[in-house]
Amino acid sequence: MSSQSFLSILTGSFSTPCADNPTVAMIEAGYRAAGIDARYINCDVRPDNLADAVLGAVAMEWAGFNCSLPHKVAVIDHLDELAESAKIIGAVNCVSIRDGKLIGDNTDGKGFLASLKDVTDPAGKRVLLLGAGGAARAIAVELGLAGAAHIMVVNRDPEKAETIAALVRDNTGCEAKASGWEGEVKVPGDVGIVINATSIGLGDAEAMPSVAPDTLRKDLVVADVIPNPPRTKLLRQAKERGCTVLDGLGMLVNQGVIGVELWLGKTLDAGVMQETLQEIFGADA
Ligand code: NDP
Repeated sequence: MSSQSFLSILTGSFSTPCADNPTVAMIEAGYRAAGIDARYINCDVRPDNLADAVLGAVAMEWAGFNCSLPHKVAVIDHLDELAESAKIIGAVNCVSIRDGKLIGDNTDGKGFLASLKDVTDPAGKRVLLLGAGGAARAIAVELGLAGAAHIMVVNRDPEKAETIAALVRDNTGCEAKASGWEGEVKVPGDVGIVINATSIGLGDAEAMPSVAPDTLRKDLVVADVIPNPPRTKLLRQAKERGCTVLDGLGMLVNQGVIGVELWLGKTLDAGVMQETLQEIFGADA
């Protein structure tokens, strides 16, 4: 009789729509390279089916799952515990199932931070953060917890920017201010890191957040959360001006690596995962 196991570890993602989410290809490439017998299943889960999907994952003894739009806040009602930053952010994109208990984490900001730390340590730095949606919120909280000195949140809707600034001030040791977005944003001279956390540039290589190009100094780190296309117009302009640039692929890869560490306690090869995304997004990635 064979002693081989035909039972794979199960992980995956719940969101809708989800057909264009490449995370499955990236994580399964990581599993294969590490010789881990695990699957990542991309599931289209409508809001009214979220509770059943979570129960199903527990019943089938999944190790954990990602939650993407529109479930990042709604999933919290189905969890037993929240990690510190998920509690502050108020959103969960990664759930671990341990002994039937569901623990929620937020790896969006952590993934961004891991990729930022490859080029600079945000501790003590002043940051200009463009956008005040879910990605900006996660990034702002993680930057605050990582010791950034000050975050200026700029958003079309200034109330959303103030909500994030207050969240940072109230929960981390970082100073934060908010501003509406009028005309071209000028990068202040004391800022060291500029982050586009808006959705401008997603699926449009020529779209660019309104930033005064002549204020992109060469000593700046300019990061973009947009994974597709990764070489956004903002990053191309920043690179031309000599800035250090960071694309959204690193954030996507690192949040995947961190998720699998939470689920399986194993660290996947980020390089393999990055190459998989580059193949998917094209040669210029
Ligand atoms: P949200 O919808 O929550 O927020 C979108 C933000 O973009 C808001 O601040 C919105 O401003 C701003 N925005 C959109 N269009 C414009 C415009 N024309 N001018 C000015 N501001 C604009 O989205 P998320 O925060 O969830 O996601 C943002 C981006 O981050 C997405 O493109 C997503 O792909 C990317 N992302 C990347 C990840 C990665 O791993 N690389 C992970 C998660 C997200 P307002 O509030 O005024 O409407």
